Amino acid sequence: AKEAGRNTYKFYTAEMTQQALEHSFVQSALRDALEQSQFFVTYQPQLRIKDYSMVGVEALVRWQHPERGLIPPDSFIPIAENSGLIRELGAWILRTACEQGVQWLNEQVNFGRIYVNVSATQLHDESFTEAVIMCLKETGFPAEKLGLEVTESFIMKDPQHAINVLSSFKEIGIELAIDDFGTGYSSLSYLKQLPIDKLKIDQSFIRDIPDDPNDMAIAEAVIAMGKALNLEVIAEGVESQIQADFLLDKECTEVQGYLYAHPLTADAFSEWEKQRDI
Ligand code: C2E
Ligand code: CA
Ligand code: CA
Ligand code: CA
Repeated sequence: AKEAGRNTYKFYTAEMTQQALEHSFVQSALRDALEQSQFFVTYQPQLRIKDYSMVGVEALVRWQHPERGLIPPDSFIPIAENSGLIRELGAWILRTACEQGVQWLNEQVNFGRIYVNVSATQLHDESFTEAVIMCLKETGFPAEKLGLEVTESFIMKDPQHAINVLSSFKEIGIELAIDDFGTGYSSLSYLKQLPIDKLKIDQSFIRDIPDDPNDMAIAEAVIAMGKALNLEVIAEGVESQIQADFLLDKECTEVQGYLYAHPLTADAFSEWEKQRDI
């Protein structure tokens, strides 16, 4: 048993070293990537479930590394968050999205709103609100066209602080959605006090519909909660018509997922929008 324990320990350190190496590779590569413009932003349509009209697009960052190829955000956003680099990266994503929005407004591309993901690290920054206002001012993108997706975990960590921060965005006309809803145990009493417009049901609850009755019950409960609080409810990760029919039946208001469109480059999105017959 002692032998096995030692081996397990050795295995563990090797794995941790590997992780640390990977972590430091990504951390220094992220800095270069920002300077060398290796990031780009894709936009995934969000639609009203009733008539497929445009609600907005979610801005999702991509990293095109010269040797490693396309790196998905799940493998670098958490590292950018831990190292604080998310501040610069997040500011770049916001600016890129706002500039794109201005271009689409000029070209009369119907995109609804642009929803940008903001991480807890960014929201805890005291100067973040000011930075968003400056970005809108400098790009000329209207606040009413911008939405922010904030995670449930940010809100629950310090709900009173979250209310203050989110109120400052609400005041200038920015829409607010709670991302990954259902994964973080929001208390109903806070939910009522938060100046939010929308709940976004996490895709982990949509994925196994119609096979998992628990997920169906959770999705249904979130939709009912949104309705009771007079909030929009959007389901993400909708991949099948069966899922869409379920959501329509439960009176979910908005959908996003591969069934409708993948995240698209800016040009591909404007093509997609022009060609669909709605
Ligand atoms: P998220 O905000 O929950 O985004 C949803 C993810 O689901 C996206 O993955 C999207 O491409 C993917 N998705 C959309 N429709 C479907 C579908 O029908 N089926 C499946 N299986 N997946 C679908 P992505 O783009 O890889 O992003 C992963 C996560 O990385 C995001 O989760 C978000 O937490 C983070 N992220 C992405 N872009 C940004 C960003 O610009 N800023 C920040 N702070 N985080 C970002
Ligand atoms: Ca999101
Ligand atoms: Ca999610
Ligand atoms: Ca999404």
